[in-house]
Amino acid sequence: MLRTGMIKQSSAGIYSWLPLGFKVMKKIEKIVREEQNKIGAQELLMPTIQSAEIWKESGRYDDYGEEMLRIKDRQNREMLYGPTNEEQVTEIFRSSVKSYKSLPQLLYHIQWKFRDEIRPRFGVMRCREFYMKDAYSFDVTDEEALFSYNKFFLSYLRTFKRLNLTAIPMAADTGPIGGELSHEFVILAETGESKIYSDKRIFDIDINEHSNDDNSIKELRDKFDKFYAVTDEKFNKENFDKKVEKENQLHAKGIEVGHIFYFGDKYSKPLKCSVDLQDGKKVDVKMGSYGIGVSRLVGAIIEAKFNNNIMKWPQSVTPFDVAIITSIKKGDSENLNKCEKIYRFLKESKIDVLFDDTEDNLSAKFKKFDLIGIPYQIILGSKTTDDKFEFKELNGKTEILTIEEIKNKLLKIRNLN
Ligand code: ATP
Ligand code: MG
Repeated sequence: MLRTGMIKQSSAGIYSWLPLGFKVMKKIEKIVREEQNKIGAQELLMPTIQSAEIWKESGRYDDYGEEMLRIKDRQNREMLYGPTNEEQVTEIFRSSVKSYKSLPQLLYHIQWKFRDEIRPRFGVMRCREFYMKDAYSFDVTDEEALFSYNKFFLSYLRTFKRLNLTAIPMAADTGPIGGELSHEFVILAETGESKIYSDKRIFDIDINEHSNDDNSIKELRDKFDKFYAVTDEKFNKENFDKKVEKENQLHAKGIEVGHIFYFGDKYSKPLKCSVDLQDGKKVDVKMGSYGIGVSRLVGAIIEAKFNNNIMKWPQSVTPFDVAIITSIKKGDSENLNKCEKIYRFLKESKIDVLFDDTEDNLSAKFKKFDLIGIPYQIILGSKTTDDKFEFKELNGKTEILTIEEIKNKLLKIRNLN
């Protein structure tokens, strides 16, 4: 990411997102948002800086430890840079929602977080400042809350699938968020920090067979629950050997890209977040929280997809659909003019095209584009005629096509994704 100029380090674990990296992150964010909206979650935006007061109410101000960046304002008030938003969202909810009739509610935001990680490493994978989608569910009963939990479970599987990733939901520990039920979504990657132990048959589950309907989602959860899938914190060799035959056992490394929690009234009770029931009684709302590491996903996709030093972006998040590559020499505008025409033509069809109009030599350009991993290239070179060009799939086959044919091909590829 550093070599391609996607990001630039500003200080330990803190990065600027340069145009190429920012473009990928925004595409990931859009998919995450669309899948949240599809299960009926509503987007809001909470601040990055929070008051210490609500964290004192929940008891986490002391518990959270040194990962929390604590700040004092000029009035000497204690503030903090939010590492997560359970307290903040509960405070919003308790002051605006009074009746059981308004439930369930699913709320989310996509916002920067800060955790003063002791060892920030692997670039955007473990930063101090990172971009996260965090959602929160509010229900009256445990049973209804489980439906909310399952909705996010399905929506996460759909989100990662659209990013061309196979994420396995794994039974997980709850850590400082707390609660009794939790799944980590982990993708397989050699460089991952999580050790995973799972039944290989979990990959055969087809999420397309399931809708947002309560029963259908419950069936999906049951299918996953049948298979052994845990990270090393919960691993027990005896259980693993008992539940999974040797040939189906998978030990691998992975990257955590999402994490969901159900914790009932852990926050609503101390923060006095209750609603009125039909019979006049009050009940503390039952809550869950659901995170996706949007900025971590940029690095995670690279780790999961790269091959021989070549990044390969899935079509859904590629920084550009296609790159135009040719040799441009000073004083010779023939190639330049041809490429600009192709560029404008594709732009008019809403194809996201990049034209490298630098004077670097061709082999340097090929190296550069191999590294960046844009999935298709249009090359004006030795095989080009007046109206036909090389159309090359990254690391794949080349065809000689007219610009009209190239356009139709790119539009078709995009529609398939
Ligand atoms: P980890 O175990 O990797 O430290 P976590 O369990 O502390 O993560 P959660 O509170 O579950 O993290 O956060 C939700 C998601 O946010 C994680 O699944 C991950 O994708 C992302 N995330 C968490 N910490 C970081 C970080 N330091 N840098 C980048 N992304 C992060
Ligand atoms: Mg986690």
